[in-house]
Amino acid sequence: NQDWQGKHVTVAGLGVSGIPAARVLHGLGAVVTVVNDGDDERSRAQAAELEGQGITVRLGDGATLPESTELIVTTPGWKPDKPLFAAAAEAGVPVWGDVELAWRLRGPDAAPWLAVTGTNGKTTTVRMLASILEAAGLRTAAVGNIGVSLLDAVLGDETYDVLAVELSSYQLHWAPSLRAHSAAVLNLAPDHLDWHGSMEAYVADKGRIYEGNRIACVYNAADPATEDLVRGADVEEGCRAIGFTLGTPGPSQLGVVDGILVDRAFVANRQKQAQELAEVADVNPPAPHNIANALAAAALARAFGVEPRAVRDGLRAFRPDAHRIEHVADVASVAYIDDSKATNTHAAEASLAAYDPIVWIAGGLAKGATFDELVSGAAKRLRGVVLMGTDRALIREALARHAPEVPVVDLDRTDTGAMSEAVREAARLARPGDTVLMAPACASMDMFANYNKRGEAFADAVRALADESA
Ligand code: ADP
Repeated sequence: NQDWQGKHVTVAGLGVSGIPAARVLHGLGAVVTVVNDGDDERSRAQAAELEGQGITVRLGDGATLPESTELIVTTPGWKPDKPLFAAAAEAGVPVWGDVELAWRLRGPDAAPWLAVTGTNGKTTTVRMLASILEAAGLRTAAVGNIGVSLLDAVLGDETYDVLAVELSSYQLHWAPSLRAHSAAVLNLAPDHLDWHGSMEAYVADKGRIYEGNRIACVYNAADPATEDLVRGADVEEGCRAIGFTLGTPGPSQLGVVDGILVDRAFVANRQKQAQELAEVADVNPPAPHNIANALAAAALARAFGVEPRAVRDGLRAFRPDAHRIEHVADVASVAYIDDSKATNTHAAEASLAAYDPIVWIAGGLAKGATFDELVSGAAKRLRGVVLMGTDRALIREALARHAPEVPVVDLDRTDTGAMSEAVREAARLARPGDTVLMAPACASMDMFANYNKRGEAFADAVRALADESA
């Protein structure tokens, strides 16, 4: 790959996407410098390893554009308003994210991409999709936040017929030339607004997933903003807009009729009837938001030509990941549910709608969100609320406005140990038959390394409680 020989590339940020990108670019012959804001023990160890391989690393200075930089490859999490990018714009240096890099290196040649984005349900939908594609006998992988990394998928030794790719709004922001075979936007609700700057910017970044689609742009018929994005997209000729709905589908839609997931979009013209795909009971768990995910996955698979039977078999074989509405234990006839993955209000809304009465454990980093809608929608089902984390006051104030009679325990803590106190307080508020639901509607990073750790802390605390009451 001669283009890369001697090319000066600056990689913005160490970490899960920066380090592999630096290695790959160095391997191609580029002159790589990694710049990183932090200068802690961990980044020093990572830097030492990269420097041993001939890669320059500048710790504690992520703002200065190294001289002679011809291209920046950024960690998707880096905010667009960072000084490094202002300097790049000034110098006319392009900025690519990890998706752009993977796409430019070999994206279109590795395999067609079936891409999924949305505020919530991405991972679930991508894994359902991969399960369906596998059931169809295709060589595939779930690529993105879990499973295979993008660079590995396109550059590794494994060959694929098709890839099921999860894309975040950050990745889409930095991926201007991506062109998927087909793509779905599952839903759009305010999230990460502090990063994107505004809802408009967030939605516009999500909409990039439809650009250049060849076969289908899949939208959520219950979320008109997703359909608007399809209308605004510049797609290949013949590419169709395909909707999914929890109700009876129109033409060019997938939907649900009498407990059956049906497809009216990808049926032969003379065939008037809808094609049956699977039963609602085949979806795991068969909660409304998850049936929507299944329909989106089915739409993408059908766009790729997958037979109905494989849709059913793939959905049946799918098992949800940990920390997504996961039942941990029953203690004293109270169910304890871990939905640590509910890192925003839209996700928490889905799980709060699934239980009644609820003792709700919430709080963390709000990422610019407001809580009035979530709290007023759930108010009638709340037995009590336990709050923790940095932005808990925002939730407390929304509760005071919309659910003033609901008892609230404000732990006033942001340390990891708060979870075990929260579970104890929740147990005191709960009555037999209630559900204690840890669906924080916030990110975890103020208290935990990530949402997995938060979910594990909850499960540990519940098990301790169970041991005591046994
Ligand atoms: P993502 O990868 O987009 O974060 P996940 O599949 O990991 O999505 O689910 C994240 C959270 O959102 C979980 O708490 C889950 O219960 C909830 N969720 C999943 N699908 C949906 C949906 N279609 N609408 C609303 N919430 C959802």
